Amino acid sequence: MNTVSRHLFAALAASVLLALSVPAIGSAGEKPNVVLIFADDLGYGDLSCYGATRVKTPAIDRLAGQGRMFTDAHSASAVCTPSRYALLTGRYPSRKDNLWGPVMLRSPLVIDTERLTLGRLFKEAGYATACFGKWHLGFGSEGTTDWNKPLRPGPLELGFDHYFGVPVVNSHPPFVYVEDHQVVGLDSADPLKYGTAAPTKVFPEKFGLSVIGGGKKAHAMYDDETVGTTIKEKAVAWMKQPRDKPFFLYLATTNIHHPFTPAPRFKGTSQCGRYGDFIHELDWIVAEVTAALDELQLADDTLVIFTSDNGGMLNQGGQAAWKQGHRLNGDLLGFKFDAWEGGHRIPWIVRWPGKIPAGSKSDQLICNVDMLATLAAVVGRPLREGEGPDSVNMLAALVGESDEPIRDHLVISPRSKRHLALRSGDSVYISAPGAGGFGGKRIGEHGLGGPAAHALTNQVNSDVLDNRLRPDAPSAQLYDLRSDPAQARNVILQHPEKATEMKARLEKLLAQSQTRVSGN
Ligand code: CA
Repeated sequence: MNTVSRHLFAALAASVLLALSVPAIGSAGEKPNVVLIFADDLGYGDLSCYGATRVKTPAIDRLAGQGRMFTDAHSASAVCTPSRYALLTGRYPSRKDNLWGPVMLRSPLVIDTERLTLGRLFKEAGYATACFGKWHLGFGSEGTTDWNKPLRPGPLELGFDHYFGVPVVNSHPPFVYVEDHQVVGLDSADPLKYGTAAPTKVFPEKFGLSVIGGGKKAHAMYDDETVGTTIKEKAVAWMKQPRDKPFFLYLATTNIHHPFTPAPRFKGTSQCGRYGDFIHELDWIVAEVTAALDELQLADDTLVIFTSDNGGMLNQGGQAAWKQGHRLNGDLLGFKFDAWEGGHRIPWIVRWPGKIPAGSKSDQLICNVDMLATLAAVVGRPLREGEGPDSVNMLAALVGESDEPIRDHLVISPRSKRHLALRSGDSVYISAPGAGGFGGKRIGEHGLGGPAAHALTNQVNSDVLDNRLRPDAPSAQLYDLRSDPAQARNVILQHPEKATEMKARLEKLLAQSQTRVSGN
């Protein structure tokens, strides 16, 4: 080998070594599988690895031990549908009018089929794509959903090759499975009527739920206690299909949304009642999905993301769990629907062997609205103008060691367009008084929230007296989460300039058609 050849060889060897040592994230040649597990109503304190002691979640803890867990991750909303909207579109739910309240039980599809979604992102990147589990983003293009007709547009029109799951939510009709465009087991001779679906097993009588829609007793076309198992089995079977391309699995569990209906073998396994038993079933689902990755020898080539759509809910099961010492949202103030932290701070775990340091933790401020830009970076397809307008690429927070903040602001839309909140640094500004959450007023009600919840929880907030909002409470709220993570003290009267600045910034952000910086 002459001198020139030796130099060339050395240079080549060095470049190969460099290529081997630097994770080539986002490069055109590398396309990991992506598994996104989206739990329902799972609070910040609902997992062992986040401090729970009345439940055991070994599979999810293991995932955290092999990857990274986040302590300041949020949902863009404190309720199901707007959270899912943000997740799939990278768009703040406050931009939409039709995401809020009971309308979402029978709504047309709320996502424009022209819009870039997670499904479309992966499909266009050459992935096999599927969605399993709870949808709750509507079907069809107009009016009230007729469950006897083809449910189009739906997940398939947003880029998913396949969908199987519970079309709305496990607490409300129709209690059916939908596969692709149709209700499973549909009988044209015995059409479905809302609230009176063809029976296989009586749903509300078992669990004492009232049913919205017609006032008649509803029946289910599935056995509630098999839903978690069925969705898991369908998802794992899909993962195991032979294919010559990577896959994106969006698995949106019905666990742990009420009613709490784990398979019988999980009953009594936790120390906080059915609420905890349903978490145990969720942990089993995660165990089965990760075991399938191991079996397929794909664990090293797969980015697994586990998170939740909103905080834990103080419904009857949640109240029973609380009384047994379980803290749904850890030490955070508030619950699902609330503008307070318990409403929207969520568990968030990522695993990507070789890319993400095992057993690491991050206190970076991130949000599920960031999923689109981040996964776009993973597949090497930067967002264009208008796509995912509020989605910030947080890949550096997922895989990097940097402490540089990914986000310097985050808009939260807790339950509706009221109580919109702005997070900036350690400060959070909430544009109205109180929690703004669920209307429950008494212990034992279907859902207990806001100041009324303090009668059970004994939590403290300076605007709350005798479990009610003080009549003289300020018209907005400001908290310093560094010195007061449990939001005991509204300090807005002590820092009027800060509040004015954050209010103006929130209004400015809401007026912008895009809040992320282009090219991000
Ligand atoms: Ca939810």
